[in-house]
Amino acid sequence: MKHPRSFTSGSSLPPGGAVSAFGRPGSAGMLARKYGLWVLVAVLIAVAVLPLPDFWITQLNYIGLYSLTCLGLVLLTGVAGLTSFGQAAFVGIGAYASAWLTLNAGLSPWVTLFIGLGITAASAWIVGSLTLRMSGHYLPLATIAWGLSLYYLMGNVDALGKYDGLLGVQGLSLFGYDLGQGRGFYVLTWTLVVLAALAVLHLLDSRVGRAMRALRTGTLMAEAMGVNTLRFKIIIFLIAALLASLSGWLFAHFQRTVNPSPFGLKMGIEYLFMTVVGGVGHVWGAITGALLTKLLEDQLQVLLPQLLGTSGSFEIIVFGIVLVLMLKHLPHGLWSFVDKRLPRPQRMQDWADAPVLPEKPKPAKDELVLDVQAIRKKFGGLVAVNGISFQIKAGQIVGLIGPNGAGKSTTFNLISGVLPLTSGDVVFRGQKIGGLRSREIAARGMSRTFQHVKMIPDMTVLENVALGAHLRGSKGVLSAMTRMNRAEEQQLFRQAQCQLERIGMGAYLHEQAGNLAMGPQRLMEIARALCGDPALLLLDEPAAGLRHKEKQALADVLRQLRSEGMSILLVEHDMDLVMGICDHLVVMEFGTFLTEGTPEFIQQSPEVRAAYLGTEH
Ligand code: ADP
Ligand code: MG
Repeated sequence: MKHPRSFTSGSSLPPGGAVSAFGRPGSAGMLARKYGLWVLVAVLIAVAVLPLPDFWITQLNYIGLYSLTCLGLVLLTGVAGLTSFGQAAFVGIGAYASAWLTLNAGLSPWVTLFIGLGITAASAWIVGSLTLRMSGHYLPLATIAWGLSLYYLMGNVDALGKYDGLLGVQGLSLFGYDLGQGRGFYVLTWTLVVLAALAVLHLLDSRVGRAMRALRTGTLMAEAMGVNTLRFKIIIFLIAALLASLSGWLFAHFQRTVNPSPFGLKMGIEYLFMTVVGGVGHVWGAITGALLTKLLEDQLQVLLPQLLGTSGSFEIIVFGIVLVLMLKHLPHGLWSFVDKRLPRPQRMQDWADAPVLPEKPKPAKDELVLDVQAIRKKFGGLVAVNGISFQIKAGQIVGLIGPNGAGKSTTFNLISGVLPLTSGDVVFRGQKIGGLRSREIAARGMSRTFQHVKMIPDMTVLENVALGAHLRGSKGVLSAMTRMNRAEEQQLFRQAQCQLERIGMGAYLHEQAGNLAMGPQRLMEIARALCGDPALLLLDEPAAGLRHKEKQALADVLRQLRSEGMSILLVEHDMDLVMGICDHLVVMEFGTFLTEGTPEFIQQSPEVRAAYLGTEH
């Protein structure tokens, strides 16, 4: 199959994603992207050794503390789409735990750090389990409630010193080096910031990271790829809370005192403000936001009272106005302004020799793969699917056809577990799967595509497709953060590339998925479904938006898959394609079964002709 140029919607983007002269290997932009972290480290070291006034070192120390918390918000809000106003409360837990324990139990701060992280993890797990099931505005409201209640708890417990807090907290030192203030604290804090940023970057570029990035577009597609979305939301919530808690630990031993005010709701809002201003979708946005907000705040705190001739927290008003303007004119934050101008480096293709992923045993030819038993679905008063039954044998392509609104997509959703059945059952390879979740069905070897393409537009085609192999990997968050997952990642990418080549998309591995035209987006979804090593493939209108040649190529691919023993259930409006490749057709009308048979039989059927009369066919 050739790779037609029409695969991308814009004419300006050649495959591979190198966008301009700026993006040539070796150009300034590419170097900045590739060595960005080292540039940051070099600047940080320069700051430490240059004779900068102590005032600026202190400022940078605060910026480092804020950056850690904001980094968590990048994961939580930017990556997973979960808004939290309650991060300051987790900073407070880290700070209070360490302050209290060092003061009252005489423990070393290096021990209390881990106790604080443990307490944070436990509370975040409880809060997360209770709130992350909520959708829409309930989650932000719940985090506000959480932030408020913890603030008043800290302010009302005698043992925590009420609103006066705890005084005389010890500073940090290690092997005799004073890390409690000035440059010592600077080195410690920024080392932690750089390590945390690196860990988050590594995490996002991994199997689990791709699953996390899928959360923002909703849970439906991710679940169908086998991702346990609630589990990943809780993990992200935990990571964000732990980063905040780490910042709190540093804060307590830097300030040498803790009281509730830096951990209240106002600060929770400010953390979110910093992150949104900096760029909530980017790791570097966290640091940019913390830096600019702190600098701006300092300037405004001095300037505004002078200008207005009276004292007060006027900077908050300016922040509010800035935020509104930002959301209107630069909704992805300041860093996105830089990010757009930096080219995307192509992923190094180092997986050619990676071992092929093991495959599950497949059903023998003509074995019954899918047995749909009188399935029924009611949406309120509307019966969208009413007692539909049919069977698919191994190595068969079965077409499900019918006019628009006949209930084909709903039937797909019932079979793949995206929607719960009202009644009836589905048996897949001898096991009842009616009532199972879509990720459990995916794990049994059923993969699907969606009528309305569901993908992660800012990931490459290769990464999107690799998400389909989620269940074939096992490396978790810690291996991803420490890059111990490379061998498995290579296997997953090899699989993704192989499936993309199989479907004729081999030239578009490194293209941003969002830049693809509709047709190739559908092909990408098929490749993603194939990555799951399915025995049954459910394709919902795969040829919609494809050109004639592309449709022919798709038909060839589907025939090839069938000859390899794959079973396929196909919903499609292109009758030439359907009649050309299907072994058997099931016809639906108004949610009910109309007839079934070979393509020849269906073409001759007067009932089918009547059903389609007056429609576009
Ligand atoms: P097809 O894919 O054959 O065009 P669908 O399965 O999408 O048809 O829709 C069948 C019927 O069910 C339509 O009348 C549609 O409006 C209705 N329907 C589909 N999904 C929902 C839903 N989530 N809630 C309510 N009605 C729905
Ligand atoms: Mg449909």
